[in-house]
Amino acid sequence: MKNALVEIYTGLKSLFIGLGITIGQFFKPTVTVHYPHETLKIPARFRGHIELVRDPATGKPKCFVCKLCEKACPSDCITVEGIKPEGAKRKTVTNYRLDFTKCSLCGSCVEACRDGAIRFSREYNLASTNKEDYIMDLFKRLEAEGGTQNPTQPTAGGEPQPATATIPSTTNPHAGPASAQVQPATTAQVQLEAK
Ligand code: SF4
Ligand code: SF4
Repeated sequence: MKNALVEIYTGLKSLFIGLGITIGQFFKPTVTVHYPHETLKIPARFRGHIELVRDPATGKPKCFVCKLCEKACPSDCITVEGIKPEGAKRKTVTNYRLDFTKCSLCGSCVEACRDGAIRFSREYNLASTNKEDYIMDLFKRLEAEGGTQNPTQPTAGGEPQPATATIPSTTNPHAGPASAQVQPATTAQVQLEAK
């Protein structure tokens, strides 16, 4: 009889302790977010895959194909190609291939670039079952974001001009020739850009 009473007492005690915790949490602010409709603010030092940086003065990529980033990469992820337009002092990038399947986000390439022509992107939404989606053409990605004319197509004046045409927003901006996946922007991406 005594044992039964002790069991009832300990059972009720643990029940009320559990209910107390549940009720306490019920009145606390919500800590979860409704992903993908909501997202947390990405920390300032978040490292997404690298991306090319545009020169605000010209609208073209800052990269001048010195290949220091290519040499600095310990995983051999980067291949940079470019041309030297007639009369120009520096080369212009025409293809910047990143094999993100091998990238460890170590940052050696970003550190090696003296002109700040590459940086870490804020891209986090990269889930895919297709390996080819992680072989990225960063030059095409920059073009898709706002029109960077391919320097292999000079204008009548001989100098490449910023392009006005952009590819449709439903085309995966990362996709190179091997992959042309359709990947519409999510609400989460839109919210992140707004933050
Ligand atoms: S990104 Fe920087 S380091 Fe790499 S090729 Fe371009 S200018 Fe050189
Ligand atoms: S972050 Fe590191 S591993 Fe990734 S591309 Fe740059 S140098 Fe290579």
